[in-house]
Amino acid sequence: MTYDINHLKELVNQVYDEAVTFRRSLHMHPELSEHEEETAAAICRRLDSLGIRYSSGIAGNGISAVIYGKNPNRGVGIRADMDALPLTEKTDVPFKSVNPGVMHACGHDIHTAILLGTAQVLNQMRDCLPGSVRLFFQPSEETIGGAKQMIEAGCLEAPRIDSVIGLHVDTDIDAGDVEFIPGHMNAASTEFSVTVKGKSCHGAHPTDGIDALLPACSMVTGLQSVITRRMSPVDPVLITVGRFISGTKGNIISGEAEFSGIIRVLDMKNMPPAKKYISDMCTSTAEAYGATCVVNFRDSYPSLENDAVLLSWVKDAFSQVLGKDHIKINEKPSLGADDFSYFCHQSRGLYYNIGARRPGETRPFPIHSDRFNPDEECIRTGIITETAAVLKILQEESKTW
Ligand SMILES: [Zn+2]
Ligand SMILES: [Zn+2]
Repeated sequence: MTYDINHLKELVNQVYDEAVTFRRSLHMHPELSEHEEETAAAICRRLDSLGIRYSSGIAGNGISAVIYGKNPNRGVGIRADMDALPLTEKTDVPFKSVNPGVMHACGHDIHTAILLGTAQVLNQMRDCLPGSVRLFFQPSEETIGGAKQMIEAGCLEAPRIDSVIGLHVDTDIDAGDVEFIPGHMNAASTEFSVTVKGKSCHGAHPTDGIDALLPACSMVTGLQSVITRRMSPVDPVLITVGRFISGTKGNIISGEAEFSGIIRVLDMKNMPPAKKYISDMCTSTAEAYGATCVVNFRDSYPSLENDAVLLSWVKDAFSQVLGKDHIKINEKPSLGADDFSYFCHQSRGLYYNIGARRPGETRPFPIHSDRFNPDEECIRTGIITETAAVLKILQEESKTW
């Protein structure tokens, strides 16, 4: 299909103000992961008013909507996450959060508003869309990974979705620009916890007990050598210990110590050996000190790898609507994690960043800051890029249907 770029821009400009208003209302009423009830209700009301069909209550508060194009059995997916963070907002915007201790500090209010704006534009074009468009309003990105549950609930079926796109706001990038990270974009992560058991006794008579604190300290420092000596230095593996608890009083040998952390790898083949080395190092250290230990792992999100073919199509589409100068390629991946990665493992996936830094702003507050305050102009960029990406992918994929 062909479309007129100026007409597309006009459609986006027509829905922009409404998208901003919707974003501000979400921003004022943020809800934590697994509790996005009012957010979901607001999205459903909006979809109702647009006449777009949907199923709600998926993976908790998730909503899966479909805009049916010429082919009702095949389509493209767009995902927006919708949960907020446990933070007290410290900005002075007029639409500041009214929910104590909860804030949209990761921009998921913006992602949701963009997806609704995109839905509004694509819905007007539905008669000439070669295929259908699935809209994923996904809960619980910040905690349990709502993406996985939405996929397990069958959201990639009927219409069959072969490609999914998603975006994230980024205040390191100028508003109006977008950024692609080819290949591995985000890390896979696995949380771990270690409990060391010894025997407490008087601090003056250490041989009466078994110190648990000392081997635990040795483990925490030793774990860093796992990265530098057991894993390849050219393939990123990051081990962070962020919590350590032991002891009750300065003159008591501690009988138990507990610490927890997270492993991050870009290439998932590094995760099994990283886990084994951590386990071996902790067990043998405990043994050397006469203590015992238990190591537990909990796999979190897989790594996020962008599809090269999708990237080339979408980059082409963005050059037309934004101009080449507004497209940045960043070869450096992030060791952060995002559950959009589940879509990349089940279909072709492309995740990109949209700029949210105001002109002239030097050090804007980043995501997860209680002063995060992105430039809302990114909503316009978000809607036009999601729309252009969907049109391009449908055009390319429909050639093989
Ligand atoms: Zn976040
Ligand atoms: Zn986020």
